[in-house]
Amino acid sequence: MSRSARVDAPLNDGLVPAHIPVVAEADVVVVGAGPGGFAAALQAARMGARVVLIERFDMPGGVHTCGLQGAANEGVGGIHTELMRRFDAKGYIHVATEKELPGWAGNPLSHYERQMKPGTPFRRASFSPEGAGCEMALMLKEAGVETMYATGFVDAIVERAAGRDNIITAIIVHDAEGLRAVRGKIFIDGTGTAELAARAGAPYASGGGGQPAGADWDGVERPIPGGLLWIMSGVDFAQTLRHQETARDPALSKLIAEAQAAGDIPPGLYRPRMNGKNVYGEAYIGHPTLDFSPMLAPNTFIVWQNVPYEWALRMDVSASDAATARRELRGFIDAEARFLKKYVPGFAGATLMDVGRFVGIRDGRHPVGEHVFTLEDAREGREFRDAISKPMTKTFFWDGYRKHRFTVPFGCFLPKNVENLLLTGASLSFEYETIFMVMRNFPWCAQTGEIAGYAAGRCIEQGVSPKGFEWREAYF
Ligand SMILES: Cc1cc2nc3c(=O)[nH]c(=O)nc-3n(C[C@H](O)[C@H](O)[C@H](O)COP(=O)(O)OP(=O)(O)OC[C@H]3O[C@@H](n4cnc5c(N)ncnc54)[C@H](O)[C@@H]3O)c2cc1C
Repeated sequence: MSRSARVDAPLNDGLVPAHIPVVAEADVVVVGAGPGGFAAALQAARMGARVVLIERFDMPGGVHTCGLQGAANEGVGGIHTELMRRFDAKGYIHVATEKELPGWAGNPLSHYERQMKPGTPFRRASFSPEGAGCEMALMLKEAGVETMYATGFVDAIVERAAGRDNIITAIIVHDAEGLRAVRGKIFIDGTGTAELAARAGAPYASGGGGQPAGADWDGVERPIPGGLLWIMSGVDFAQTLRHQETARDPALSKLIAEAQAAGDIPPGLYRPRMNGKNVYGEAYIGHPTLDFSPMLAPNTFIVWQNVPYEWALRMDVSASDAATARRELRGFIDAEARFLKKYVPGFAGATLMDVGRFVGIRDGRHPVGEHVFTLEDAREGREFRDAISKPMTKTFFWDGYRKHRFTVPFGCFLPKNVENLLLTGASLSFEYETIFMVMRNFPWCAQTGEIAGYAAGRCIEQGVSPKGFEWREAYF
């Protein structure tokens, strides 16, 4: 790990405090219903395990539903393919092409297609976050998962004894009835920020790492911030395009400058700053203008609002930074929507439709597992006896966009110090350089969730803990 690991002290001696009622008992308890936790709960339940799933919001899907990140990908197999097919069958997927959005490819306002040559054909599929959340909730219901929505995970109750790993006996949650406990045999961390692993005493490296080696960053560390997505509907993009061309203002810089001069754009909206330097630059996210992706339906766009660095980096471990980010981003979104309507042709009749329920954390805690997957593992194409899949090839943004063919071992799902916990999704034991942009997207999180669920199901069948389970063959 490039960063030093820390360990938080777990709660107590394995006993649920007398004043907290135990409201559920399960074979498998999953915390967090993002793509990772969702697929884990579904798979374990389909294998016959009794599964309880804890989720603080009102539907599964995490960043991709509650957070409005509805990018639809080609199915990569298993539950991920099933999801894409089910969303499609229900009419929840919208595909935008150059016919619907002429001038979109190569447009500086486009989040995904701005690097393309103008005029290039493109196909951008998105699913409706609300529709997808309904479908995912239905799938969990069909499989018999006991879902506890509007329920926050608070802490882990851990049994400690010298010479062996901690055992989680129960978790404490908070819901409409106050503090309650859920007992389980096996626990799965689907929080996206390894919150359960940290509370149970697993070591972890903090998020907020640096930018790719060799990038021209003028010496300022530029970690990857979280983001809050929102939706604007009723946009006449043809008018915006005409303005970009006739006013020779492709990135709308002239309009932004005009609005800034009139005091209509708050400081930090388009160029978050850290240490007095401009950040983000041209790389990956948050190019210093509007950031759009087509979404959901014609004339409806998802808009990206990244979190300024002042509060972006420790949102998973600092309550005050998390609260500030949420408060300030609402203000930014309101200002951006008003700017669009007042200044930008094509937006006069547009409406701020929706704001994501949570500010997604792109780079949270990285738990230290029995194996920590490193950039070297990928570069050298290491083969592992406990590989979870056949070798896969991915492009490593953090390694000069090189393609590597590699396998991932089951050891990345097993946090150190904890006997009966499995990791998933963005909370796997991966080095920062490998997880960002490469191994934390929706398809991968759904795949690793399915693997964690499969492992939990097998453990219940065999009466062993995840640490005692022998992973034998590739699943995908
Ligand atoms: C702004 C942003 C944009 C992104 N863009 C893309 C993209 O274009 N394409 C792509 O494939 N990926 C994208 N990603 C990455 C991807 O969305 C995440 O890596 C992925 O969703 C992680 O899945 P997960 O299941 O591990 O966690 P999450 O999706 O984060 O889900 C975690 C779930 O756990 C719940 N939870 C957390 N803590 C608690 C608690 N204490 N109590 C109860 N519930 C809790 C949350 O409410 C949430 O539902 C983006 C991420 C962000 C933040």
